[in-house]
Amino acid sequence: MGGLMQKKIALLGSTGSIGLQTLQVVDMFPEQFKVAAITSGGNRVDLLEKQITKYNPQVVSVTNEECAKKIKGKFASRQIKILSGLEGVVEAAVMKGVDIVVAAISGAAGLVPTLAAIKSGKDIALANKETLVAAGGLVMEEVRKNGVNLLPVDSEHSAVFQCFAPEHAGTVASIVLTASGGPFRGYSLDALKNVTPEEAIKHPNWSMGSKISIDSATLMNKGLEVIEAHWLFGIDYSRIEVVVHPQSIIHSMVRYGDGSILAHLGYPDMRIPIQFALTYPERWVNTLEQLDFAQIGTLTFEKPDLQKFPSLELAYCAGEEGGIMPAILNAANEAAVEMFLKGQIKFLQIPRLVETALAKSKQITNPSLEDILEADKVIRMEIKNVYGKGLIN
Ligand code: NAD
Ligand code: MG
Repeated sequence: MGGLMQKKIALLGSTGSIGLQTLQVVDMFPEQFKVAAITSGGNRVDLLEKQITKYNPQVVSVTNEECAKKIKGKFASRQIKILSGLEGVVEAAVMKGVDIVVAAISGAAGLVPTLAAIKSGKDIALANKETLVAAGGLVMEEVRKNGVNLLPVDSEHSAVFQCFAPEHAGTVASIVLTASGGPFRGYSLDALKNVTPEEAIKHPNWSMGSKISIDSATLMNKGLEVIEAHWLFGIDYSRIEVVVHPQSIIHSMVRYGDGSILAHLGYPDMRIPIQFALTYPERWVNTLEQLDFAQIGTLTFEKPDLQKFPSLELAYCAGEEGGIMPAILNAANEAAVEMFLKGQIKFLQIPRLVETALAKSKQITNPSLEDILEADKVIRMEIKNVYGKGLIN
C-alpha cells in the first residue's frame, strides 16, 4: 500500500449514502486517493459545498441548474469547473486522468454516465445496480470491448466476487445471495397493507437512500441483485439462490460442485466493499472494527416469502425473459416507489404496478440504448398517469 501513485476518483452521487461512505474511505487513506470530480443531483447543496471545500475537486457537476448556479457563485474564486445537467455528469465521468469512477447515483439515472465512463476506459466501482438491471447486455459488452474492471460495490456481489475463484469457475454450482428480509420480515399480509414510507425506510441493518430502502422492504432490491449477479458473473438464473439471513453477517456465498461453500463475512458496513472496489486487486488494512463471533452468537437462515414479497419473483421472471423486460421492471419499480414515498399508493400496490407494466409491455430482444431509454421514459409516464389511477385505495 501507499506507492507513489495516487488513485484519482470521480464520485458520481457524492451526497448520497454510498457517496458519503466512499468519502469516509478516502478519509482513511488521504495520501492514496484524490477526489478529482464529484457530482450530485442537487438534493443537499449545503453538504455538497462542504465536500467541495474539503476535497477541492477539479470538476463538480450538479444536475439541477439552479443549484449549479448557486455553487458557481460561491466558488467563483477557485479553479473549479462547475457543470450541470446530464452532460455535466457525463463530463465528470469521462474526465481525463481519472482512474476509477464510483457509480453511486440512485436509479436508472446512473446508466448513461456509467456507460460513458466505461467507453472512456475507466474502471468502475459499481453501486448503481439499476444500470446493470436496465442494460446488462450493453454494459457487459462495453466492459469487454474496453477492457475495464467492473468492480461490485453492492455487498452481496462484492462477497461473491471475493469467493468466486476463476480457476474453479467450471465447478460453481450456484451463487447464494443473502437477504436481510427487510423491516417487514414476518409481517402478515394484513399488516403489510398499511405500512407507511417511514416504517419502510427504517432498515434493521443498513442505513441507505430512500429508494433502495423501499426496495429492501419489498424484496425488489434482492430481485435487482439477482439480475445484477446474472450479468456480473455470467451465471444462469436457475443457479442464483436467495436465502434470508436476518443478521446480515454473511454477505453472500458461492456453492461449488464438490460440496464446498465459500462465504464472505463481516459487519454490515458498506465501507468494506467500497474500499475493496477502490483498492482492487490489493486489500488494504484499515481501522474498522473486527467481527466478534461470540457477540453475534447465532446466524439464522430462512426461505424468502414470495407470497408476501412477490417483487423477488417478478425480477426472476423479467430476468429470465431478458431483452427489454428487466428495464421495464426497473422503470416501473422506480416510478411505483416514488409514488409510494409520496403517499400516492400503498405498499402492496408497488409489485402490482410492476407486474401490470411487465404484462402490458412488448418484448424487444437485444434492445439498443435508445430502446432502453425510451422504454424507461414511457413506463414511468404510464405508471404515473394510467396504471396508478384506479389502483389507489
Ligand atoms: P442516495 O439516494 O442516498 O444517493 C443518491 C445520489 O445520487 C445522491 O448524491 C443524489 O444527489 C444523486 N442523484 C439522484 N438522482 C440523480 C439524478 N437524476 N442525476 C444525478 N444524480 C442523481 O442513494 P444510495 O443509497 O447512496 O444508493 C446509490 C446507489 O447505490 C443505488 O443504485 C443503490 O441501489 C446502490 N446501493 C446502495 C447501498 C447502500 O447501502 N446505500 C448498498 C448497495 C447498493
Ligand atoms: Mg446489496
